[in-house]
Amino acid sequence: MPTCTAPEPTTDPLDQILHDEIALVVCGRREGKMRSCARCDIKARSLIQSAQADRPKRTQRIASMICGSEVGGACDACNAKAKEILQLLGLETA
Ligand SMILES: [Zn+2]
Ligand SMILES: [Zn+2]
Repeated sequence: MPTCTAPEPTTDPLDQILHDEIALVVCGRREGKMRSCARCDIKARSLIQSAQADRPKRTQRIASMICGSEVGGACDACNAKAKEILQLLGLETA
């Protein structure tokens, strides 16, 4: 009996909640806003992957992905968002 099944798409409700939360941070959290736009939802996916992939300059890397700038060139707002995302993921801001 095969024990190896095809990988399922991310249906884990906790993962989904976390993803939505992060997408919302990327999009810009504000009162009454419950969901990010579709663009930030997609962006959150690659941000999470990048955050979990490599430790060096993690915060700067994530911030620049949000800002659309070079690594180290992100604005204060995007640096703050990057830190918030890493905290949500339970990762060190390094
Ligand atoms: Zn958005
Ligand atoms: Zn920015």
